[in-house]
Amino acid sequence: MQSNLTQKHITEPQRSLPIRAECDVLVVGGGPAGISAAIAASRNGAETVLVERYGGLGGLATGGLIILLLSLDDGTGDQVIAGQCQELVDRLDARGSIVYPKQDEWGNQNADLVARYNQWGLIWGRNPSVVRYSVAYDPEEFRFVVNEMVLSAGVKLLFHAWGARAIMDNDRIDAVAIESKSGREAIKAKIVIDASGDGDIFVSAGVPFESEKVHPWLWFRMAGVRDVDQAVASGGNRFFKTLPGEGRILAPWGSMGRIDRQISAVDVEDLSYAEIECRRMVMEEVERLRSEIPGFENAFLTDIASQLGITESRRMIGAHQLSREEANTLNDHVVARTGNWTKAGMLYNIPYGCLYPREVSNLLVAGRCISVDHRVHHSTKEIPACFATGEAAGTAAALSVRLNTRPSALDVGKLQDTLVHQGASLGL
Ligand SMILES: Cc1cc2nc3c(=O)[nH]c(=O)nc-3n(C[C@H](O)[C@H](O)[C@H](O)COP(=O)(O)OP(=O)(O)OC[C@H]3O[C@@H](n4cnc5c(N)ncnc54)[C@H](O)[C@@H]3O)c2cc1C
Repeated sequence: MQSNLTQKHITEPQRSLPIRAECDVLVVGGGPAGISAAIAASRNGAETVLVERYGGLGGLATGGLIILLLSLDDGTGDQVIAGQCQELVDRLDARGSIVYPKQDEWGNQNADLVARYNQWGLIWGRNPSVVRYSVAYDPEEFRFVVNEMVLSAGVKLLFHAWGARAIMDNDRIDAVAIESKSGREAIKAKIVIDASGDGDIFVSAGVPFESEKVHPWLWFRMAGVRDVDQAVASGGNRFFKTLPGEGRILAPWGSMGRIDRQISAVDVEDLSYAEIECRRMVMEEVERLRSEIPGFENAFLTDIASQLGITESRRMIGAHQLSREEANTLNDHVVARTGNWTKAGMLYNIPYGCLYPREVSNLLVAGRCISVDHRVHHSTKEIPACFATGEAAGTAAALSVRLNTRPSALDVGKLQDTLVHQGASLGL
C-alpha cells in the first residue's frame, strides 16, 4: 500500500449537495466547547444545529475519559468560571455523581485536605499544593446530563455527522459540507462555530493557524481493586480513585517517553499508529499494575478511552492571540476567564478577539483551538475553560444574528452584559 499520498492527486467531479438544514447558528463538534456554544446560541434565540462525528457528546471529556474538571477557580479561593460549567456541576451534584471540594475548602493548603483530593486527581500543582475547585465525575452521567441540557435548550442535534469543509462565498461561509451515512450534504448557517478541537472548519475556510505535534494519551479505568485508598497511596500518582462505586481507579496513562515519536493529531496515519501502539501498551500497563501493585491482584480493566487523548493540534491565529505575558492583566474585552490548573494565582482574561478570525466574516471558534499561544493553551484547553469560551462564542453568534451584524462588529459591552446576566464570571 502506498503510504505517502502527497505526490498523487485525483480530481473529484463537481457535484451539487442536498441541503440537510438551514439555521441561524451551526456548531461543529460536540465536546465541552461545542455543547456550551450550542446551548448558549439556542437559549439566546438562535435556531441552532450541532453536528458531532461520534454518537455521543463530551469529546475528550467523555470519550477521552478525561473525567476531571480542572479547574473552575484561580487557586486562591476565587471562582473564575461559572455559567454553564457551574450549571453542569449543579446538575451532576443533584444526581450525586461527582466528587469535589466545597467552597470553604478552595485555596486551602492543609496537608490532609490536599492529600484527600489528590487521591481523586483533583490537585496537580506543587509548591505549595492547594485545594482547587475541581470536579471528578463519571462520563456516562456527564453524557446524560449534557444531552438533557442540549435538547431542553432546543438545539437540533445531528450525531454521526462529520463537518467536512466550509463552502465559501467570498469572505463568508455559505454552508458547511457534512459527511455521514446519509452521504455528503450541506448545512447552511448565518454563523458557524468551529468547536472541533482541531479547527477542521477554520482550516478549510483559509484561516491562518499554528499547529503542534504531541505524545498521545489513552486513559483507562479498572475495577475490583482491593483497598483503593491504600493502592492509590502506593501507586505513586499513576492512578486515582474514580466514580462510580468502590474499588475503581482511573489511570491517566500517556505514551510520553514510551512511544518513539510525537504525532500529528490531524494525520490519519499518525492517528492509526497511535491507536494501535497505545492500546497495546495500555494492556502491558494493566498487567504491570496487576502484578506489581498490592490490591490489584483481582482487578480488571473496565474501559479504555474510545478517543486518544490529544492535548493539542491546531490553534487559530485570530483577531487577538492571547500570550503568556498577558497573564494576570485586565482586558476590557474579556468574555471568558480561566485560571491555570497547575499554578495557583495565575489568571487569564480571554478577550473576544481570541474567538474570531480576521479573514472570515461569519465564523467563531471555541474550545482548545482558540487563538492563544502554546503556553496559554495549557490553561485554555481545560474543560471548564472550553465551556466558558463555548458559552461566549454561542452567545456572540446568537446576538450577531439577532442584531444582523458580523461577529467582529458586535458591541463587546453588550456581549459581556448578556454573559454576566446568564451567570458567567467575567470579573467585571
Ligand atoms: C491527556 C489529556 C489530559 C487532560 N486532562 C484534563 C483534565 O484533567 N481536566 C480538564 O479540565 N481538561 C483536561 N484536558 C483537556 C480537555 O480534555 C480538552 O482540551 C477539552 O476536552 C477540549 O474541549 P473541546 O470541546 O475544545 O474539544 P474536544 O473535547 O476535542 O471535542 C471536540 C469534539 O468535536 C468532535 N469533532 C471533531 N472534529 C469534528 C468534525 N470535523 N465534525 C464533527 N465533529 C467533530 C469530536 O468528536 C469531539 O466530540 C486533558 C486533555 C488531554 C488530552
